[in-house]
Amino acid sequence: MLVPEHARRRRRVDSSIHAAAQVFADPGVYLDYAATTPVDPAVSRVMGGFLTKDGTFGNPASVTHGFGQAAAEAVENARREVAALVSSRPEEIVWTSGATESINLAMKGSALARRDRGRHIVTSPLEHRAVLDSAEWLESQGFEIGYVELDDHGRVTRKGLSRALRPDTVLVSLMLVNNETGTITDIAALGPLVREQGAIFHVDAVQGVGRLRMGDIATAADLISISGHKIYGPKGIGALRVRRPLLSELVPQMHGGGHELGLRSGTLPTHQVVGMGAAAKLAREHGEADAGHVTSLDRKLRAHLGRIERTSTNGSLRHRVPGILSVHFEGVAAEALMIALGGVAISSGSACTSAEVTPSHVLLALGLGEERVLSSVRFSFGRFTTMDEIDHVGWVLAGIVPALRKL
Ligand SMILES: *Cc1c(COP(=O)(O)O)cnc(C)c1O
Repeated sequence: MLVPEHARRRRRVDSSIHAAAQVFADPGVYLDYAATTPVDPAVSRVMGGFLTKDGTFGNPASVTHGFGQAAAEAVENARREVAALVSSRPEEIVWTSGATESINLAMKGSALARRDRGRHIVTSPLEHRAVLDSAEWLESQGFEIGYVELDDHGRVTRKGLSRALRPDTVLVSLMLVNNETGTITDIAALGPLVREQGAIFHVDAVQGVGRLRMGDIATAADLISISGHKIYGPKGIGALRVRRPLLSELVPQMHGGGHELGLRSGTLPTHQVVGMGAAAKLAREHGEADAGHVTSLDRKLRAHLGRIERTSTNGSLRHRVPGILSVHFEGVAAEALMIALGGVAISSGSACTSAEVTPSHVLLALGLGEERVLSSVRFSFGRFTTMDEIDHVGWVLAGIVPALRKL
């Protein structure tokens, strides 16, 4: 059979990729910690004690009997742990179903509370969709949104924020650590500007808590959103830290039995709450060990990447947490790379909404061209990632990336 030269060449490359994938692809290297972390086994063990009849299953709001009182006590212990993790007081912690809900309550609750003072909200184009979509909803309710202009490193600076603030700004919402690039925002430096303006400062700290010391951030921010499943706790639980004077001001978004000081009605999921409490305790106890471990993994991954031609990182390498790395492989489609990587779980620079591939709004906001954005992937890793796994992925990439470029 006559096979044209270009087709033969393609077939040869195809089969070499498949061979490489088979040799290397050991199903199950998880490098998508920014999407969710596995639950720490110690957390999972604690949670099991709060479900069945022989455990603490009572309704924490039923304080007229011992079953409810035991559950309420567990909830308050967990609240103390989460409060300590964000350098706050226990009475400032409101349980939610996750950071998406915390963000909705923070932004809608404070903007609506202050609507008679002003209708201007400031945020950045780098925020998580929960923030951007809450802002857009507020826009439909008559608010105006200003987006901070970023500096050359893709960061929010004092200068950028000052320019975005107006006398009628009532709310500023910024993230502590970007979930796609790992870039850190200097919240402590920005806080005073927001305060001078008399606006409320909300910080999406989901990717920063457990990695960074929160003392200065808790002083600078009024509202802080965090999530259980990004800190080795369960999904479906989060918290909003509400600085005390705001507790009576925020407009609730969930109405019902008046739980959580009326700010968030609904029976508390005790097992989730204690899970998040246990995760917060572990984060405080193991924070430094985790950071050391992740820093060496990060260094190793960058060393591997440094040996692959035409490969670079997106976002500021200097102002970044280790463990989240956005990487551009020139001339390699992110989707193709992810398929070729087989059992290695990473995420592309694009958000897949159903079948549609849309380039990441974060990378586009950094001023990167569409080609670059669609050839970028995110590696994120943490407590349970091993050096062997990083080496394995490094070697696989060294084989796959040049092969994909030849296609
Ligand atoms: C995951 C994430 C969220 C949303 O948290 P959920 O608990 O999943 O709703 C918000 N912001 C950032 C930066 C995140 O990484």
